[in-house]
Amino acid sequence: MNLEERVQQVHKQIEEACLRSGRSAEDVNIVAVTKYVSTAMAAKVLDSGLEHLGENRWQNAEEKWNALGQRGTWHFIGHLQSNKVKDVIGKFEYIHSLDRLSLAKEMEKSAAAQGLVIKTFVQVNISGEDSKYGLAPEDTADFLRKIQGFSHIRVIGLMTMAPFEDRAEDTRMVFRGLRELRDDLNLQGITKEPLTELSMGMSNDFEVAIEEGATWIRLGSVLVGKEEEE
Ligand SMILES: *Cc1c(COP(=O)(O)O)cnc(C)c1O
Repeated sequence: MNLEERVQQVHKQIEEACLRSGRSAEDVNIVAVTKYVSTAMAAKVLDSGLEHLGENRWQNAEEKWNALGQRGTWHFIGHLQSNKVKDVIGKFEYIHSLDRLSLAKEMEKSAAAQGLVIKTFVQVNISGEDSKYGLAPEDTADFLRKIQGFSHIRVIGLMTMAPFEDRAEDTRMVFRGLRELRDDLNLQGITKEPLTELSMGMSNDFEVAIEEGATWIRLGSVLVGKEEEE
């Protein structure tokens, strides 16, 4: 399949997952993850009409951003080291991986210096795997309280990564857990505005994530492809 066909196929799968779960496809946003591909391919992704691009490392993103940064909306989706914050603030409108107070402090400082408010997801490790970044679910409320006064960070929702499963269905409880946590945090009324967004679902499991309420799915291989396939 070429890019156009993959885009169509993904849209069809999104619509079907929405039908199954009584949701509207308009509420599901696609972040096209370009980390496996070249600048030329990332340009094609934008040409195809996709607006949101995701990268997980500044080192990989730099060349693409320098060429294409004025187009599209950029999402930083990977683990963010504090010493890279100054590189990404001002370039990436969304950060999906806020997972510790030291990072929040760096982001706040950098965003304040540039007069920006950064749309942010707090990353939560729902599955509890050691290999995954993210706050423990039970620490999330306290974390949100601690960063309440950070006026340059706007937490819009939560993000998680599910373990890779051969059967996507086996990821469902992870995605459901993130949704329930979000709903519970909203009931507690910790944030000024309710958390509306859920960043969850990748190539292998995005349909299940949509059924469980994803509002942002992050798709690399299934959508953008990997360079050797082009
Ligand atoms: C690479 C990556 C993705 C996309 O992965 P695919 O399985 O290729 O869709 C999504 N989210 C994060 C955080 C990633 O690093």
